[in-house]
Amino acid sequence: MSKKAIRDFLKSLKFRLILLFLLIGILPSFVLRIGMLSSYGKKAVSNRSVDVLSQAKILTNQIVFNNYLEDASSEIVNSQINQLSNIYDGRIMVIDGNFHIIKDTYALDEGKTIVSEEVIRSFRGEEISKHDSENGYIEMTIPLIEAESKETVGVLLVSVSTDSIVLNQEYLENSTWVIELASGMLTLLIAISLARMLVRPLRRMGNEIVEIQDGYKDKMEIASYTETETISSRFNQLFGRMKVIDESREEFVSNVSHELKTPLTSMKVLADSLNGQEDVPLELYKEFMSDIGNEIDRETKIINDLLSLVKMSRSAADLNISSVNINELLELILKRLRPIAEMQRIELVLESFRPVSAEVDEVKLTLAITNLVENGIKYNKPEGWVHVTLNADHQYFYVKVEDSGIGIPEDSLEHIYERFYRVDKSHSREIGGTGLGLAIARNSILMHRGAIKVFSTEGEGTIFNVRIPLTYITS
Ligand code: ADP
Repeated sequence: MSKKAIRDFLKSLKFRLILLFLLIGILPSFVLRIGMLSSYGKKAVSNRSVDVLSQAKILTNQIVFNNYLEDASSEIVNSQINQLSNIYDGRIMVIDGNFHIIKDTYALDEGKTIVSEEVIRSFRGEEISKHDSENGYIEMTIPLIEAESKETVGVLLVSVSTDSIVLNQEYLENSTWVIELASGMLTLLIAISLARMLVRPLRRMGNEIVEIQDGYKDKMEIASYTETETISSRFNQLFGRMKVIDESREEFVSNVSHELKTPLTSMKVLADSLNGQEDVPLELYKEFMSDIGNEIDRETKIINDLLSLVKMSRSAADLNISSVNINELLELILKRLRPIAEMQRIELVLESFRPVSAEVDEVKLTLAITNLVENGIKYNKPEGWVHVTLNADHQYFYVKVEDSGIGIPEDSLEHIYERFYRVDKSHSREIGGTGLGLAIARNSILMHRGAIKVFSTEGEGTIFNVRIPLTYITS
């Protein structure tokens, strides 16, 4: 396996799920094992102490009853002492009132004197039992009390080994280890298959994206989890939007090609007809050449509009914002358009309700308003008028461009901002439109975070209302 494959596996959700399941599966049994073994050890030692103590107490009675301290030859007592030491694999010593050991089942210290802390305390009547876990034994000292006088006449010292308990504990530990290992393996297997199953929908998601990319599918449908369902539906939405954008781009390119080809075709026809004729009169030459000139102007206009549109489609970061006197800006636009208006005998009026200064991109806003006023002039009737009104409140300024023109049919209203859309193609062509003017105007206004609305009645006129914030909002 390569380094990357290992890194990928360690980073994967599958690996993390396996770890989680293993932890959940193994940790409780691990804790249980440790806890059980230690409590078993404690319980076994305390049980052993209780057993030995009760046996030893019976023995102390026998010792006192048979006067063993005076005469250690009592068969009954000796055999009982030996029996007890054999059963518990222990050592028993009987100590008389002078601290002399009169009986030692190991026969090592008989006749010697013993003065340990426990023995002294037992002479005072205490029963002592203590566990020495390091050396593996339990030691008890029990006073030998005269029945009548209640005097302590000696001490019985019993020490028993805990080796068998330790052995049992070790055996238990070994067998729980085996069980734990087996259950660990089983948990691992279950963890791997569970993790694989849980991660499968995500893997399927990846595969479906590839299939969509390759064109075998056009939708992602993975409903295994709420989350995958949500991601699928969001992906489908995004994909749908991308498809629409792609289609509109294709349509745009085909429209552009068509629009650019039309003047070229006209020029070709004009040139061919001149070239195909012998002795063409000079007038015809002049007429055709002037037509060719018009077509070149048209081509130039389309290209210029397209360039403006491309500039408008860029992000808002391309805006060149400055504080602009809007009254002066409108006056300038109208001044530039007045000659065209006069040519068509259209009255052009500007009405400003208040002085307005706003943060805008002067060039782009000029382009937008110019297009609106130009349309008002172009799509008007002779002796008609175009009124431009400027107003403002504390937040926005409003420009209204109203004309007495031909109006826009209702079913065309929703399309007029589309690129290359024209209500009446032949008429529009005659007037010299490209179908890009309103698209440019709208984009420019949207870049300023403004809004544009149109109201129109066929045969009566059209109103474009533009609203733009006085201060530019960055985000
Ligand atoms: P064009 O270059 O053809 O003027 P626009 O995008 O500016 O393109 O306008 C799109 C179409 O909307 C025009 O062709 C015209 O049919 C219609 N239109 C725009 N403004 C007006 C108006 N003020 N009055 C009537 N029709 C209009």
